[in-house]
Amino acid sequence: MILRLVLGDQLNPQHSWFREVRTDVVYALFECVEELRYAPHHRQKMLAFLHGMQQFASELRSKGHQVEHWTLDDPRQKGSLRANLEALRNELAKTASSVRLEYQEPDEYRVDQDLLGLGTRVPSEHFLTERGAVASHFAGKKTYLMESFYRAMRVRHRVLLDQADQPEGGSWNFDSDNRSAWDPKQAVPTEWRAHHDLRELDARLDRHRIPRWGDALADDFPWPAHRREALELLEHFVAHGLTKFGRFQDALAENHDFLFHSRLSFALNTKMLHPREVIDAVESAWRRDPQTYPLPAVEGFIRQILGWREYVRGIYWAKMPEYANLNYFNHQRPLPQWMYTGKTQMRCLQVAIGQSLRTAYAHHIQRLMVVGNFALLAGFDPRELDAWYLGIYIDAIEWVEMPNTRGMSQFADGGIVGTKPYVSSGAYIHKQGNHCGSCAYSVTEKVGPNACPFNALYWHFYARNRDLLERNPRVGMVYRTWDKMNPDHREALLEYADLNLNNINLL
Ligand SMILES: Cc1cc2nc3c(=O)[nH]c(=O)nc-3n(C[C@H](O)[C@H](O)[C@H](O)COP(=O)(O)OP(=O)(O)OC[C@H]3O[C@@H](n4cnc5c(N)ncnc54)[C@H](O)[C@@H]3O)c2cc1C
Repeated sequence: MILRLVLGDQLNPQHSWFREVRTDVVYALFECVEELRYAPHHRQKMLAFLHGMQQFASELRSKGHQVEHWTLDDPRQKGSLRANLEALRNELAKTASSVRLEYQEPDEYRVDQDLLGLGTRVPSEHFLTERGAVASHFAGKKTYLMESFYRAMRVRHRVLLDQADQPEGGSWNFDSDNRSAWDPKQAVPTEWRAHHDLRELDARLDRHRIPRWGDALADDFPWPAHRREALELLEHFVAHGLTKFGRFQDALAENHDFLFHSRLSFALNTKMLHPREVIDAVESAWRRDPQTYPLPAVEGFIRQILGWREYVRGIYWAKMPEYANLNYFNHQRPLPQWMYTGKTQMRCLQVAIGQSLRTAYAHHIQRLMVVGNFALLAGFDPRELDAWYLGIYIDAIEWVEMPNTRGMSQFADGGIVGTKPYVSSGAYIHKQGNHCGSCAYSVTEKVGPNACPFNALYWHFYARNRDLLERNPRVGMVYRTWDKMNPDHREALLEYADLNLNNINLL
């Protein structure tokens, strides 16, 4: 008898495991209290994963596979993945002469360690690179430049290349054509939504006293629950979002949760979709109709998946477990209460956190340049911040959340992922969107009770971390500007920033 474990982020019906129906194979999916409690998770995130597992178990059964899906209510529950596996293995051993465990390569270090030695590990058949690919690509280098990895990926996977194996359009990167500020006159695509009744699942979580965080689910469920819906979402994005994806990739907008972003991360991270099919759908849209689908949008989108997504996974496996403890700036500040409620007077943070609580989603620039930016300026403890990001977002799994949070957003790795910290004053947020117009603070004021807190905190961050950043060639200019400032103004900025930090819960 073979017992095959399917984890909650392995909902890929195309995996070669499922090609034939075998009487000697049992598939196991477990809901585990331990997994739901090890960090606070947004209720909608839990529902999305558990509902996806439930749908996957039903789909396997309908195709004739033997499936054990232990819900939290199952009387055989032992609470943890390992204990459940042992219990099921013992149960099967009562009727089989031997029971062999097989599992797909887990993406999380913690789970990987937990399963080590318990059975045979097989590839998950999902990623476009092996776990160690980034480590070998950058062997001997201190900085891991994503762009060089991405170009190698374009060549290796023959994506957006012309007949002469050169990049289509004559450039590897069209970022300079992307990233416009928000234009409030733009119409955004209608949202793709699915309809699933998750009330019973929600009640099950309550019955097992799983803590609630985040808003309750509205009537319908805006995330794909299985591959068919994930393909619908992909099609919807190509038809309605892709054309303006690049242009408004970095925009920040009042009243629009998703803008032109794809919302495909949950479907990708649960493996309902393969990254190659997403890349192919986008590339072939452009080849079919380059007038409708501009190359900068297509290239910009593909770079996120072929480049960033594979790259951060490689960083994770190259640097774990040490990565989880990196804290370059030794930041220790606990997260203020408003990070959990969204009740702050800073409009950009109010919108980004409020939306995250309401939908378990924020787009990249909200995560990086609003929440992450403030967290770094204020010196939030990266461990607490990691837990926050891991808990709140629908797509958050440690392999992708952690290098983005500690690396890209917090520079806690000292510059492995990023060449300089992603920080800005309020001016950047003002330029990219329309939050500042309805903020309690004034983005043009630098000090004083009405001044946007980002402004003084920006200088405070650089001043307090001078020893660590001054020699960075991409940062030097900041210190030259600081040194030229009137000393009284410098003093006022630092004082105002300190005042804000001392009253952070009231901002
Ligand atoms: C602090 C921080 C934490 C993040 N945590 C997560 C996380 O837990 N899970 C997660 O999937 N992404 C994370 N990201 C990356 C990115 O913000 C999300 O992938 C994206 O917002 C998901 O929305 P979307 O599907 O609409 O993406 P789109 O903007 O439509 O992008 C398309 C796809 O590209 C991929 N992608 C884009 N940027 C990245 C990136 N930096 N790293 C990896 N993949 C990327 C995603 O698969 C995404 O679905 C994080 C970014 C930051 C700055």
